[in-house]
Amino acid sequence: MKTYKQIVHEQKSLFLYVLLTYVIAGVAIIFREPLYGIFGERNYVTIHLIIEIFICFFSLSIAVQIWLISKYNPKNRTIYMGALFLMTGILEVNHAIAYKGMPYFIQESGPYLATWFYVIPRIMFPLGLLIVFLLEEKEVSSSSRLQSYALSILFSLGVIAMVYMPTQLLPVLVDENGTTPLKNNLQMTALVLQIALIILLVKRIKVMPRRAILMIAASLYLLCSDIMFVSYKDVYDIYNFTGHIFQLLAYLLLFKAIYYLTVEQPFNKLIEANTSLEQSEQKIKQLAYYDEITTLPNERYLMEYLSKNLKREESHKALVVFGIGRYYSIKNSLGTKYTDKMLVMITERLQKFLPANYVLCKLAEDRFAIFIEKHDDAKKIYNLLQQLKEMMEEPLAIDHFALNSNIDIGISLYPTDTIHEEDLLQFAKFATHEAKKSLEHVAFYTEDMQKAQSERIVLENDLKNAIVREELFLEYQPQLNLRTGEIRSAEALIRWRHPKRGLISPFAFIPIAEESGLIVPIGQWVLERACRETVAWQQKYKQPMKVAVNLSMGQLYQEDFVNFVRQTLQQTKLKPQYLQLEITESMTMNTKQIIPVLKELKELGVAIAVDDFGTGYSSLSYLKDFPIDCLKIDRSFIGNILENPNDEALVKMILSMAKHLNLKVVAEGIETVEQLDYLLHSDCDKIQGYFISKPISYTALETDFTKIQQFATEQLSKLKVKNS
Ligand code: C2E
Ligand code: MG
Ligand code: MG
Repeated sequence: MKTYKQIVHEQKSLFLYVLLTYVIAGVAIIFREPLYGIFGERNYVTIHLIIEIFICFFSLSIAVQIWLISKYNPKNRTIYMGALFLMTGILEVNHAIAYKGMPYFIQESGPYLATWFYVIPRIMFPLGLLIVFLLEEKEVSSSSRLQSYALSILFSLGVIAMVYMPTQLLPVLVDENGTTPLKNNLQMTALVLQIALIILLVKRIKVMPRRAILMIAASLYLLCSDIMFVSYKDVYDIYNFTGHIFQLLAYLLLFKAIYYLTVEQPFNKLIEANTSLEQSEQKIKQLAYYDEITTLPNERYLMEYLSKNLKREESHKALVVFGIGRYYSIKNSLGTKYTDKMLVMITERLQKFLPANYVLCKLAEDRFAIFIEKHDDAKKIYNLLQQLKEMMEEPLAIDHFALNSNIDIGISLYPTDTIHEEDLLQFAKFATHEAKKSLEHVAFYTEDMQKAQSERIVLENDLKNAIVREELFLEYQPQLNLRTGEIRSAEALIRWRHPKRGLISPFAFIPIAEESGLIVPIGQWVLERACRETVAWQQKYKQPMKVAVNLSMGQLYQEDFVNFVRQTLQQTKLKPQYLQLEITESMTMNTKQIIPVLKELKELGVAIAVDDFGTGYSSLSYLKDFPIDCLKIDRSFIGNILENPNDEALVKMILSMAKHLNLKVVAEGIETVEQLDYLLHSDCDKIQGYFISKPISYTALETDFTKIQQFATEQLSKLKVKNS
């Protein structure tokens, strides 16, 4: 883009060129008479020679310059222009040496020779330029450079031969009366061509202003020189001298234009290209080494930093990596807009409290890293961890949400754990994963973490394809209603048949799905399949059957989850009263977000159960606020119910509380008849466990249902008989 300054400068220079024309022409016209023969008649030949030397010098140097430059940048227009200048240069040399008064060369010098050598290039030059500018600029082969120049030399030699021919082949252009009509006509032709060239150049002025302005000015000077040459009386007329001066000026400007075109412009372009290259390099570097959202140095930066730093010193160092506990569920429910803001806010907090010599980096997704270059005592790390935790306790206010989130912190130590930078980072990451499972949410790297982690990564990858490859399926575990003795409900439990590892427990892959966000598509698949199969079962047995489906936190946060449930029920034609959704206790912590979703679900007519009750969350006060229908006592309490008085007390407490809150109770993990007996005599509504049936495939549920029901009925009646 041209700047305003440049445009003004160009317009100014054109104005100056035109002004100069007026001045020179004006002086010549006004002082024509007094200036006649001013240089002294005997000096004219030398003066002419001096001017011609310059003219020849300019045109030949342009030709040479183009020849040299176009080797690397062979453009048709430039090469043809070079050839034109070569021709002009050669013929101008001949014009100069054949000028009247010059020493003998082949023939006596005189107007016949000199005028022809002058007139031919004067017509050929503007004509050639016109053709050149009408051509479309394109790259040509370097051989066409040689061809054009050879043609130019051949043409010039032809003209020389023709003009020097002993018998005059060509008509006379100047006689004793001055210029002949033919000379004047030829001169007029040159003039017309020159005007046409100016018009063409003016039209192009927007496309190539700088060069066009120089060319226009040059053409103007050539035009003036033509006018002078048409109207001069004889060589001593100042018009003749002025004509030559104009011609010289024209060649000077052409020289400048070509210099601009072939040297200056490409050079400027090169500088421009270099500057933009530098700028993009900087941008790329920024992108490569810094995180876009937080502008913190990224993992690549950290790795390079570590590789330099670890080699340098022998001091003890530590790398702390931490992840934001609820990052994925917030991302899934509220979107990246929120998580991005969250990351920025956390970055600001971190920057405020971290000492300047700690290197803070942002790794992928929700991970941050802090590198401690010198930690002489464990206290430093301990203090840092405390500060980190405190920092995250303060909720993050984003729009109208107050998001609070715990962090999971992993630490690896140099040189204790490793001396390699890659391992240091990797180990800290492994530890972060393990930190999730610990109560403190902090873990120092230990060797056994490594294996667990690499397996996890492989599994996550396989899980991505599990739905499409139909490796997932459901099993159903029947639930026995202790009040009616009937099996009218079952819990749907997901299974993954891995092509290489065989059956993988949901305990192993559900956490991976939750963390990677895969839980959303997987959860949708489970709900859909469970509803569809339950309807099929109901149709086959012509009996009601309720299905319980487990939910993960990520699903409840999922946008439009309620709508999805509604649609699934409609599509599969399962009546809402036959669906129960199971949430875990830990989900109930986020009261604000969860209660509205549960309420909507209840409005649909779906039942809500709290799974694994007694294991997760210590506060029970939420029970009265939550729109729930059922508690499922975790099987860990049932297992020892007969031996462990604490467990027994807890189960009793849950049962009585449920009664007060008007909640149904399902006891999980009934494995023995004694456990069943115990629960039969307490206020428990349903039981579920291996004793009645293990989770079984849908086909097995269809074929063996009657058998299972029969077994349950028999057991119940036996117990009744025994107890009566
Ligand atoms: P959960 O919802 O508490 O499911 C009950 C678990 O206890 C099941 O384990 C079941 O096989 C097991 N179980 C039932 N009766 C007995 C028994 O008598 N003895 C013993 N030892 N175990 C018994 P499973 O199928 O391995 O599922 C584990 C957990 O994975 C489930 O616990 C649930 O939290 C989760 N899960 C399963 N399917 C899904 C799903 O579709 N979505 C989600 N989000 N989580 C699921
Ligand atoms: Mg469950
Ligand atoms: Mg459970």
